[in-house]
Amino acid sequence: MFQDQLAEKVRPFIDLVDDMRSIGIDKELPLPTIAVVGDQSSGKSSVLESLSEVALPRGTGIVTRCPLLLQLCNDKAVKWKAVISYGEKFRHEFDKPSEVVRLVEQAQNVLAGKGVGICEDLITLKITSSTVCDLSLIDLPGIARVAVKGQPDDIGAQIKNLITKFIKNKTTIILVVVPCNVDIATTEALKMAQEMDPEGTRTLAILTKPDLIDQGAEKNVLEIVHNRVIFLNMGYVIVKCRGQKQIDENMSITRAIEEELEFFRNHKHFRSLLREEKATTKCLATKLSNALVKQIKKYLPQMSEKIKEHLGEVKHLLSKLEGGPPLEPAEKRKYLIQVITDFNEQITQLSKGDIIVVENLFELMRREFTVWMECLKNAKSNYHEVVQQVVDEYDQKHRGSELPGFSNYRVFQHVVQKLVAELKRPAMMTLQTIRDMVQKQFDHLSKENFKNYPYLYQVSKKKIETIQEQQSNIVKARIVEQFEMEMQVYTQDEIFNKHLPEDKAEGSDHDTRSKYPGLFNAYYEEEKAEGSDHNTRSKYPGLLKSYYEIVVQRLADQVPMLIRYFILKESAKIVCSEMLDLLHRDDADNILQEDSEIGEYRAKLQAQADRLLLANDKISSL
Ligand code: GDP
Ligand code: MG
Repeated sequence: MFQDQLAEKVRPFIDLVDDMRSIGIDKELPLPTIAVVGDQSSGKSSVLESLSEVALPRGTGIVTRCPLLLQLCNDKAVKWKAVISYGEKFRHEFDKPSEVVRLVEQAQNVLAGKGVGICEDLITLKITSSTVCDLSLIDLPGIARVAVKGQPDDIGAQIKNLITKFIKNKTTIILVVVPCNVDIATTEALKMAQEMDPEGTRTLAILTKPDLIDQGAEKNVLEIVHNRVIFLNMGYVIVKCRGQKQIDENMSITRAIEEELEFFRNHKHFRSLLREEKATTKCLATKLSNALVKQIKKYLPQMSEKIKEHLGEVKHLLSKLEGGPPLEPAEKRKYLIQVITDFNEQITQLSKGDIIVVENLFELMRREFTVWMECLKNAKSNYHEVVQQVVDEYDQKHRGSELPGFSNYRVFQHVVQKLVAELKRPAMMTLQTIRDMVQKQFDHLSKENFKNYPYLYQVSKKKIETIQEQQSNIVKARIVEQFEMEMQVYTQDEIFNKHLPEDKAEGSDHDTRSKYPGLFNAYYEEEKAEGSDHNTRSKYPGLLKSYYEIVVQRLADQVPMLIRYFILKESAKIVCSEMLDLLHRDDADNILQEDSEIGEYRAKLQAQADRLLLANDKISSL
């Protein structure tokens, strides 16, 4: 009767926490829980067996190699059933208690590998029966002092790390298992608990093996149980489990529990502890249930807040996934038109600089074109140097030895050609950089717009790639052409005319030159025919410099204009028109095929939302 009343009060709280754990909230908010820690052979498995009423894996060495969440549910209508689950998917239901050992060992082998390694992944074992108490606790590997054969040397440290991870949380109740027949202060488990919970506010100790203490030592044990040696707020409980002999003789756990009661009843010193509710497994179970519920209540507001927060996130994710394509064919077509039109609109806006995706494309391009301009300017000083050098060299060689009709023009033309040709590489690099930038932004838009439609995304991505390739080939050809034209060394620019020699400018052929002001070539052909070589040569550096000025101006505009036009404007147009071509196809179904993962994801989110809502309702009704 008492058990039933308790179950009423306990179950909803424990269920709530289990629910929250299954949703994954424990990853962000440590949930109230009981973690069992003990040195090896302290009797940890034996206690858990008494509580759960089933045989658990046991033996020497490290038997518990993964944290095991033991969920005990009392249900009067159920004889016995259990579910073991771990990892993303594994879940197995069974109804034979004798299978527990094998299944837990199997789970450990899967998670921690065969052998002696440990692992942090949780195995969940839910046992429902008419006799078990309502409780949830996590069994952790026993603290090993020394590594045995085949174990990593740092196994002790690994286990301690794992235990610390669980017991450092303020929400965790630390259940320390210590044998009565040792000096409890020296046990590693109690030391760790004291480290993580120095005030002893959330530590409860279980004293085991009371039947093994030396005669005369009972008084000391009583002192401990009465909380007079190492003070723990939650106190001590003493239990007696099956000894090795009884296990070997296959004594049932039920029988062992009966025997435990007899043991305390008949014990000269410990008899009184029964009345004080400080002895037997049964008493321990009740204490733990109450403590757990108290702990859960304490953290209820925080859990409630976290659930609401989570629910908000899940709903937001769901809303982003909603609005899939309609099923009716005509509607589906309309929907496809809409999807493509939206995308095209954004591509067009992007090409006009009206929207900003990732980063401002126009700003990025401007920066890149400035780099190009800088490159032209930097080349200028080199150009000036080379020009001066060539002029000086020429002077040196030919001073006073000019021959009539000597052609010096070719020398300078060659210099100009060579230096201008060097600008082709940076021009091509600018093209490549901008192409990458534009393609990335187009691609981003396609990813955003078609994220639920892998086919559309693949098609548009491919199209963008091909179009960009074509367009950049066009620009490349144009740049090559431009540089080939530059090899002509030609201008009819005003700047250059200012540098023409005075006498010539006012000379007899003034009329011809104003008619064809840019006939740079012709001018020098004429010049050399006249043989007034020296006069012109002194003017060369200035002339060549201003010619370069003209080249720079031409290229500074021409290259960016080509790139902008073909790589951005034109290709945006082509992308849009090719996307519209998709509408001529009559397989809207295929085009709008949703990612199967999206469907799954949506279902998963929906289930999560449902569970969270349920948890939320539960909290408000508690
Ligand atoms: P664990 O390593 O902490 O899991 O310890 P076990 O539960 O495997 O127990 C170690 C040994 O102590 C086993 O042989 C148990 O039978 C024995 N043992 C555990 N509890 C008691 C007890 O209350 N009395 C006696 N006599 N032996 C016990
Ligand atoms: Mg054990």
